[in-house]
Amino acid sequence: MLRQLFNGWHYLGVFAIASLLVGCDPYNTNMRLGNPSNANNSDLNNYLLQKPEFVLSYNCNQGIPNWVSWQLSQDWLGNTDRQDDFRPDETLPDGCYAVRPNDYRGSGYDRGHVTPSGDRTNSIASNSATFVMSNMIPQAPENNREVWRELEEYSRDLVAQGKTLYIIAGGIGQKGAIAKNQVTIPQSTWKIVVVLDSANAPVTADTRVIAVNMPNSDVVRRTDWQDYIVSVDELEKATGYDFLSTVSTDIQNVIEKERDRP
Ligand code: MN
Ligand code: MN
Repeated sequence: MLRQLFNGWHYLGVFAIASLLVGCDPYNTNMRLGNPSNANNSDLNNYLLQKPEFVLSYNCNQGIPNWVSWQLSQDWLGNTDRQDDFRPDETLPDGCYAVRPNDYRGSGYDRGHVTPSGDRTNSIASNSATFVMSNMIPQAPENNREVWRELEEYSRDLVAQGKTLYIIAGGIGQKGAIAKNQVTIPQSTWKIVVVLDSANAPVTADTRVIAVNMPNSDVVRRTDWQDYIVSVDELEKATGYDFLSTVSTDIQNVIEKERDRP
């Protein structure tokens, strides 16, 4: 009798875990590929912020996210206009400077969305959510408005073809700082796009993975995003993170060393 009761709870537990894995709630959907830096709620420089629209690891010292992770499917896309309501992230913990919209003013760098405004157009609330400053990195205009934007648009083209994407992106290195040294300017901007046929499709050795690493400067002018294709292994080496950690090691070993062939 007692054993049956325990078995019952056991099944409930398995059911709960399975529901999380298939992405029933947005927090887990946006972090389906894992937590690359083991972000948590104790380290202010690797601080986990989970929002319905995206999940990120924040670096309070640098005033930018270490990485941002989100899902992109047709469910997130609609006709909502860009809200443009840049604002400090009020959910940052005590002791962490909340970057203000005008901190980037006069720096020569754009307030570059990591989760693009264009990836969250299904409602005013979800679009507005992308305008918190914790989702921004100082991005060279030629990067943000040209090659980076072109990969964002290519990603939405894939979704228009019926794909569901799992995306992780951030910056690497420091080429300087703005806002009285409170905001680090990354040397380059990287992104990983995992392309699936549906939201719950498994990641396999044949899954297409697009990884790029683009200089955060005007040298990218008049180039193509495909010029910056790298492997996930290269990004793991450069960042020290473990990407795709929810995928079995055997499959990671295959898909992380391949480069996308455009
Ligand atoms: Mn942008
Ligand atoms: Mn990995």
